Amino acid sequence: MNTTTLLRAVRADITTLSVDAIVNAANSSLLGGGGVDGAIHRAAGPDLLHECRLLGGCKTGDAKLTRGYRLPARFIVHTVGPVWRGGEQGELALLVSCYRRSLELARAAGATSIAFPSISTGIYGYPIEQAAPIAVQTVRAALRDDDPIREVVFCCFSAADLGVYARLIAAAA
Ligand code: ADP
Repeated sequence: MNTTTLLRAVRADITTLSVDAIVNAANSSLLGGGGVDGAIHRAAGPDLLHECRLLGGCKTGDAKLTRGYRLPARFIVHTVGPVWRGGEQGELALLVSCYRRSLELARAAGATSIAFPSISTGIYGYPIEQAAPIAVQTVRAALRDDDPIREVVFCCFSAADLGVYARLIAAAA
């Protein structure tokens, strides 16, 4: 069991966080969109879009890595969450896969800290009460003994979301 990685929830704009890697809740084109994706592209600058064009998109549940450009973060992990279609269309497994793949790519790039937004719970409509426990449990389960990733931040945009994540982290601590 991993006892060395710090999990915490904060309320912030993810583009401002000084971590090695931030995760983007992107769409499958990887060419930018609304919500956190738009904020990340605006803050990182136009070079991010140039690199994203070379990646050829990304499948739902998978992730791809770019540089962070003008962000404090060195890397951006772009992952594509599932659109909520009622919960019977494989949404859970795809959301789990987003968190796992993002951690794998960040670890492989040498990141020691990573921040996640609440993937799929904005425009994609995944209920936060269901998505947040999946996020926290999947990250905990994917961290290894002595994982090189020492800090995982769950970056919430609203006070209500922060409440949900903070309770989950405290309950499992
Ligand atoms: P999705 O399409 O995966 O649902 P969204 O970007 O619409 O992605 O929403 C995902 C989460 O990111 C939501 O909780 C939303 O409130 C949040 N969010 C939006 N902008 C930011 C930001 N700048 N920093 C952190 N979280 C953000």
